Formats: sequence, structure tokens, C-alpha cells
Amino acid sequence: MIFSATGKFTPGRWVGFLLIFFCLQAVKPALSEGYSQSQYQRFQGRLIDHRSRLNPKFKKKRRQTTQYIIVHTSELGLDATLRVVSGGKQFQSGYKTPGGHAHYVIARNGRTYRILDKRYRADHAGRSMWKGRTDISDVSLGIELVGYHTAPITKSQYRSLEMLLGILEKAYGLNDQAVLTHSQVAYGRPNPWFRKNHRGRKRCAKNFNRTKAGLGPGVPYDPDVRAGRLMADPTLASVFYAPDLKAPLPLTPPRKYGSNIISTTNSAWSIAGGDYDKNTTAYLLPDGRILPGNRINKIIGWTHLPLNTKVLLNQDMEPAVIQILARTPVKIISRNMTAWSHAGAAYRKDSTLYFLPSGRVYPGSKILDWDDLPLKTRMLVGYRGPFSITPTQTAYKIAGQKYKAPEIIYYVAPGILTTGDKIIDFNDLPKGVQMYLPLALK
Ligand SMILES: [Zn+2]
Repeated sequence: MIFSATGKFTPGRWVGFLLIFFCLQAVKPALSEGYSQSQYQRFQGRLIDHRSRLNPKFKKKRRQTTQYIIVHTSELGLDATLRVVSGGKQFQSGYKTPGGHAHYVIARNGRTYRILDKRYRADHAGRSMWKGRTDISDVSLGIELVGYHTAPITKSQYRSLEMLLGILEKAYGLNDQAVLTHSQVAYGRPNPWFRKNHRGRKRCAKNFNRTKAGLGPGVPYDPDVRAGRLMADPTLASVFYAPDLKAPLPLTPPRKYGSNIISTTNSAWSIAGGDYDKNTTAYLLPDGRILPGNRINKIIGWTHLPLNTKVLLNQDMEPAVIQILARTPVKIISRNMTAWSHAGAAYRKDSTLYFLPSGRVYPGSKILDWDDLPLKTRMLVGYRGPFSITPTQTAYKIAGQKYKAPEIIYYVAPGILTTGDKIIDFNDLPKGVQMYLPLALK
């Protein structure tokens, strides 16, 4: 626009233009107390441009105004997050969205990806409302933090987010109260729990701690609940708002991360929100069965869902595939199944063992973050070992009569783990085979 408005370019104009350009560059970053100018510049210089990965079917549309910045947790690992926000979300029905589901993605190591130019509308908030205005994607930027709402957000993510928020608040003249989580602005239609439109459709970034992102107090109450436009979701209300307005602010949620395991106080609704009955939500039952959300009511019934059922969001695999993956004690890290989805907070325990495709084996305490592990890494959760098998130290001597059981693991060669029941001839094992035993083995 500047070019066509000024017409011809004389050398003088170039110099003037360049001067203005450099001045703007120098002033542009926000002057947050925490970071220096050069730190902001370094952060911007390190942004990874993923705009070319955008699905060509995504229709770019300019946003008229920018009033909010919405923080999400992706409920996936990095690889899957990038694929979904740029390329689209695949449903089991075959339908795929055209992508463009965020402006930025922040990986767990703090690396920040630019998905869509910030002037365009990203389709990130879905059914949403704030201060009576619906479709918040029209008036907001969307930032995805790689991770789960039941897991801690990393320090590096908070650091990058603080920088990014500083830059964006400055660019759009916003204050800290313009920064909201997706769970704060999403709303759902009436369902068995709510007779009216209500909050709680999304749990996205319920674990977001404003103070750690360098933000001041958030909004003290939900404007749409207060105005009677929506019913409150009790869990979310307790995380984001004071019980009554006389209570002191700021609130710095969360007091705890919550969990994706069903308990007497943690229902399918409080874990999955409005996604509780979707076919992309997988329920891993304690008996080993896996059911998609849309079949729970028919097969089990929402009131009969057993305690200790694990809930996984955003699963685009066939339930039968997840079932096979869940049954074998050897877990595989895939696009859908991260170390966190397999092990939860136990991913850092020494009884969680990682077999990298390179052949290296690490205990959980040596893993910096669950998202740093390569795809196809094998995992054992709740195991001890290795025990080396030698002519004198036989499998039988190590494990007793159970040495042929399906829960006994044999590490045969890099990348090859098998179970006791799959080995035909124990006299014919290659040299160097190692054994891993479940902690529970008596
Ligand atoms: Zn979200």
C-alpha cells in the first residue's frame, strides 16, 4: 500500500523510507519490564515461519478489529499440533477442516511458529462469546501452547508467550485483560447438564497461569454469566474467577492441574467439556477396552463409566487401533499418542523407560520433556530393568515361572522389543538380550 501511494521511488525517498522503516523496527517491540529490546529482537528473529504449510483450501480473510488474544492448549504433541493447525483437523467421518486454526504455536521448548499472518482471521475459537459478542475468532488472535490442560505448561513456553503477548498487545493497543483462555470464551448449547447455553464446552488452557506469563490480573468475573446470557461451568468458574466479587484479586489459577483420569470428583464433563461425547474423545477403560465418546452412552452409560478411566482428546485413529496400542505393554509414541498420553506425569519416573529408534535407552528421569522424544520411540511404563540374559543367568532364573508371560519384555535388538509369549525358543535367543520386568511382578 505504501508503495502505490507514494508513486515513483527516487533515491531520496528510499533513504527516507528506510529511515522510517528502521525507526519503526526499533520502536515496534513492546517495552515490557522483564525483557530487553535485544531479547525481543532475538525472539522475533527466531520465529519459525510455517505459513507456507497452510492448507491451500483455507480462505484468508482480514480481521476488521482485534480485541482479544486467546490462549489454547493443543491437547496434542508438537508434530500433530502443527499438522492440525496448518493443514486441518481430520474427523473419523472423513470430514477435514481447511486448517488455519491458530496464528502462533509455541512448542514446549519455547520455539514459536508463525502459522498464519496475524492480520487474517484464524478459525480457532469455534462457538464462543465474550461480552455478548459471539464468534470470537472474528476479533481475536489465537495462540496454541503445545500440551494438555491437565499437564504443566513449561517455563520456556511461558517465556516465549510473554514475549509474544508483549509484541501483540503493543501492536494492537491491548491490555492484559484482553488475554483470555479458550475455555473462558467458548460456550456450548444445552445438554444433559445445562438447560441453557453455558460455559465449559472447552477446557483449553484451564492450566494457564497468568502470573507466569507476566500478565496482570485477568477479568474478575465472566461478563456473559453475569448478564445471564450463559450458565457458569462450576469447575471453570472456580479456576478463573473469585467466588464473590469482594474476594481479593488477582487470582492466579490453577491451584492444581487436574487430571485426565475419571474419579468421583473428576467427571467426563470436567475433563473433556463439550467434547465428552465426540468420536474424537477416547475412553481407555480399566478393563482394557477403548471406546469413542459417541458410543459410551449406548454401551456403558454416562453414570456407569468406571473410575480410573483415562480420557484422551483429539484422537483421529480408529478405536480399534488405539485398542491394540493400549493392550500391548510396549507403548509407541505416535502423532496422537505422546509420552504424556501414555504415562501422564509418570513420564519422568525411572520406572518409565524409553527405547529410542537410535537404539539408546533412557529412564524417565533423563527425559527433559515428553515432547522431545522422536516418533516411534517405544516405552514401558511401570517396569524395572534391564536384566541381561546369559548362559548362566537364564530368563527363568530372572523372572521365575512367569518368564513366558505377555507382560515380560525382551529387548532383542535396537528398536525390537517383544513379549515373553511371542518367543518360541528361549534356547535360541541372540546374545545380549535384555529383560524388563513389571514393577508389579511378584
Ligand atoms: Zn482451544
